[in-house]
Amino acid sequence: MRAAIFERQGLDNLNVKEDVQQPTITDHDVLIKVKSAGVNPIDYLTVSNIPGIKPLPHIPGAEVTGIIEKVGNHVATLKEGDRVVVYNSIFDGTCDMCLSGYEMLCRNAGILGVITNGGFADYISAEEKNVFKIPDNVQWDVAASLATTTKTPYHALREASLKLNEYLVIFGASGNTGMMAVQFGKKMGAKVIAVSKDNWIKTDFGADYIISDYDKVVEQVKAITQGKMADVVLNSLGVNTWENSFSCVGINGRWVTFGGLTGAEVKLNIQFLYRKQIKLIGSNGSTRKEFEDVIDMSSELKVRVWKRFKLNVNEALQALFAKERDGRILLDIN
Ligand SMILES: [Zn+2]
Repeated sequence: MRAAIFERQGLDNLNVKEDVQQPTITDHDVLIKVKSAGVNPIDYLTVSNIPGIKPLPHIPGAEVTGIIEKVGNHVATLKEGDRVVVYNSIFDGTCDMCLSGYEMLCRNAGILGVITNGGFADYISAEEKNVFKIPDNVQWDVAASLATTTKTPYHALREASLKLNEYLVIFGASGNTGMMAVQFGKKMGAKVIAVSKDNWIKTDFGADYIISDYDKVVEQVKAITQGKMADVVLNSLGVNTWENSFSCVGINGRWVTFGGLTGAEVKLNIQFLYRKQIKLIGSNGSTRKEFEDVIDMSSELKVRVWKRFKLNVNEALQALFAKERDGRILLDIN
């Protein structure tokens, strides 16, 4: 089969090969012909320098959708021809976190495409417990965006206990996860303030307000909320926007993150935190139940695609950091 594969980490070492061995399946696995895959920062890190990659040589790709081609002998819930998406937290199903329903926090957790071969290939194998059917009317672009881009902000907003009629401020609102967070914010009944330079996040994705000037975010949130500030702030951009985003949180508000793209070390004013009774919340992936929720809602979700590639993953990974990026990057593989 064809696959984007590397023997040693480094973007220059990633090559497309035609003669990679197709994955084998056990009794509990399915073989999926990959249709489409999402490109995310985790893939860039996998190729460039994240520790603990296995196996080697390695195929990256953490966000995968496709069609089942073969099922193992003990697979009961899936069959050949099913359109599926892969839940990309690898979990043991036996530890205390798994037993509490937090598969993504499994004590032996890892990410598909990082501690296993991923989906930047013609085929991928996955355990039945990680594979979910998608509704017939869901487009491949949305299906290829469920496993990372969609489930992550959904879980984060649930962790932040976002409620009806609350003010939600989303930093990076037109990014991969941001555009999904805007849609979930609206579904949850919040008043969504998008921090973004892209007007389409308001006109096409339903944000109630848009703030395009990062230097004026705090004063504009103050004006929009009549001085109350935000109930929930979602910011996965990291250190560059930390101060602005934390200053936007109102009394009894929640600040939630699942990423630190521009850096992870920040300075925190503890007085501001306790006087306002602010909660800082870390969020990681989603449970399988939440993944099922987003699949269930997927026909009502949309995604803006900027560029499509085939298996030329090097170019796709570099495009991820292009200044002019205006939507998602997907691989149309088969
Ligand atoms: Zn576990």
